[in-house]
Amino acid sequence: MRSTAPISSYDATPANRFWQTWALELTLTDTFLQVAIPTPLYQCFDYRPRCKEGVANGCRVLVPFGRRQVVAVVVGTASTTDVPANKLRSVLKVLDEVPVLPPDLLELLQWASRYYHHPIGDVLASALPVLLRRAAVAEVPRVECYRWLRAPLKPVNTRARVQADLLQRLAAASGDPVDAQSLSSVSRGWRKSLQPLLDDGAIERQDLDALPKNVATDTPPVLLDEQAIAVLAVAKTYGSFQPFLLNGVTGSGKTEVYLQCIDAVLARGEQVLILVPEISLTPQLMQRFQRRVSGCLVSLHSGLNNTERLQNWMIAAKGHADVVIGTRSAALVPLPRLGLIVVDEEHDGSLKQQDGFRYHARDFALMRARKQACPILLGSATPSFESLNNVSAGRYQELMLSIRAGGAQAPKLALLDIRRQKLFEGVSEPLLSAIGKHLSAGNQALVFINRRGFAPTLLCNDCGASSTCQRCDAHMTVHAKRRQLRCHHCGAERPQPSQCETCQSDALDFIGFGTERISAALQERFPDVTMARIDRDTTRRKGALEAQLHAATSGEAQLLVGTQMLAKGHHFPGVTLVGILDADRGLFGTDFRSLEHMGQLVLQVAGRAGREVKQGEVLIQTRNPDNPMLQTLVREGYAAFADAALTERKVAMLPPYAFVALVRAEATDATAPRVFLDRVIQELSNWQGPDLMTLGPAPAPMERLGGRYRAQVLIQSERRARLNACLKDLTGFIDSLPEARRTRWSIDVDPVDLF
Ligand code: ADP
Ligand code: ZN
Ligand code: ZN
Repeated sequence: MRSTAPISSYDATPANRFWQTWALELTLTDTFLQVAIPTPLYQCFDYRPRCKEGVANGCRVLVPFGRRQVVAVVVGTASTTDVPANKLRSVLKVLDEVPVLPPDLLELLQWASRYYHHPIGDVLASALPVLLRRAAVAEVPRVECYRWLRAPLKPVNTRARVQADLLQRLAAASGDPVDAQSLSSVSRGWRKSLQPLLDDGAIERQDLDALPKNVATDTPPVLLDEQAIAVLAVAKTYGSFQPFLLNGVTGSGKTEVYLQCIDAVLARGEQVLILVPEISLTPQLMQRFQRRVSGCLVSLHSGLNNTERLQNWMIAAKGHADVVIGTRSAALVPLPRLGLIVVDEEHDGSLKQQDGFRYHARDFALMRARKQACPILLGSATPSFESLNNVSAGRYQELMLSIRAGGAQAPKLALLDIRRQKLFEGVSEPLLSAIGKHLSAGNQALVFINRRGFAPTLLCNDCGASSTCQRCDAHMTVHAKRRQLRCHHCGAERPQPSQCETCQSDALDFIGFGTERISAALQERFPDVTMARIDRDTTRRKGALEAQLHAATSGEAQLLVGTQMLAKGHHFPGVTLVGILDADRGLFGTDFRSLEHMGQLVLQVAGRAGREVKQGEVLIQTRNPDNPMLQTLVREGYAAFADAALTERKVAMLPPYAFVALVRAEATDATAPRVFLDRVIQELSNWQGPDLMTLGPAPAPMERLGGRYRAQVLIQSERRARLNACLKDLTGFIDSLPEARRTRWSIDVDPVDLF
């Protein structure tokens, strides 16, 4: 392909031609642009630049790729290339003058590409909002403004009232820009009257970036001692890297600590990044920040459309945003004035991306804080075992908040032994009577079951057949109101049969319980009570979650039933009783993190009880009341529970005492993943030894999902560097492996689950 470098000034006299051709070739062979293109390949691609000025790293360029044109990001330049001259193609268009990904962030993303063993092109694309991946212009939307310069030379026609009004408004702003919208309120024909003033030179047009400005309405409370100590400890580290674990029981005022740290960072003229697991589930949190922070506050989450997302992203990236509050991917946004990162609910699994570029937003944020030299505050009532281990190892400084703010007592936890108990639709009599007691005292009660739908299985009593999904190794959940069976793994749906699908018997039974069934049962038991069910099914409609949360917060709904959506940092002032129906599931989970997650979930749900004046009570139904882990959790609390569970992890050489990666493979036929992973294991035999172990190939805990068969290999090492080197070797090997093309495969470094 011919170069498209500019030759407009080409002087075609024979004497000049030699020199100019030579000079042109020199500049062209001098620099090739190395660009990252979103493909499954681990390499970058060389292109000829469009002009000899070169393009800065981190800028987007449009390049031909195969038969398509794609948006690529420049990651480097080189003076030589392996691509033969006749194959080398040229950049079609340079899309940015200023890099969309600044150098420090670009380097971090390149590091992440190596750490997570994910192709650089895809990593960089993940960091950009969708519209920038599609060649949109990278700019903040602008507002038309005008400003006063001096008194007009030509006297204003005083009878032209509109013109006089306009001039008066601009003069009153004494040189500050006034936006067109407020000028338009003077008169509909305001532009016509403005023109003579512009011509005169008395005023000028000056367009400004359109920025949301937030004004705080609430004043901060006086901090409790532990809160003040925390804020002070963080303040000592501004301008340098220091990780903190803010380990505070539910309701201890962690958010208040974030807010006061934010004030200090904004006073330093720096930006704050706040990562939260799921903003859409906690609209209260966003409102709280809006009430307290003055400045430019933007959010980044999945609820935004592409245009909104691009705007907020640009406002953050240009350094205009003072506070950026967002989910996972906000960790990847450029922030030139970054002064503090807060990761709220740092233990939450949704901070980990579960497909494509499988990064952990908390871990990426840590690297980022190090690179941009700022403190990072990880907050949780139930810290991840990784973070607790980092505290023990002296890598993080721990800040404790041990009492609830606002005078509330810690809730009392108790186990309810439900063996040999008669249950009413899965709920024991002691729990029912406790609910009755709390409700008649005028309080609210919350019942937690981490399963939506009516019942997880429909079973035939005659032939034993159950409602299995045709595409997964899983049961389909009964959704009684819609008379449907739904697979919660692949989304498949079919009508709920009235007869057994195998033997046509009428003797069908619902096995197990979900939120729909529990709330129906409780409504039957407490017919006069207003109930709210909060799960993904009841909150799908826009505004539905807000409405349900409002009912819960205001006390209008007295009895709440829900899934883990209810566990997420909500503040329901009137809730004094929490009942947990199915904690046992986490005790015997297949995953090495099941227990950790169970402990976190139980305490997070429990944390919804008694957040104001009245003491909260938490009743946990169990068939394993003697389980030592459950007992430790309930009697001694999270720290003791984590200690005990960490000892088990250490013995088993599991994270955080070792590092693991999971190689997953899936295909529509059952053999391809096995064949592929057998080759992987062969290759890994070079690496196996006392400091690197492998497990598998084995079928995934759910082998068939969405019509695909899945298998996996676990790689485990005490040494991060060894695991990393092994994975690097492995990706190179897989790249050239024909079997890899017959299956969909991925590498998950530091997986949060082995599902
Ligand atoms: P967490 O984030 O740890 O769950 P919050 O910051 O939401 O805790 O605080 C719990 C409750 O206590 C909130 O209603 C909050 O307004 C209140 N609170 C927090 N800190 C203080 C304080 N220093 N003085 C009075 N009330 C406080
Ligand atoms: Zn049957
Ligand atoms: Zn399914």
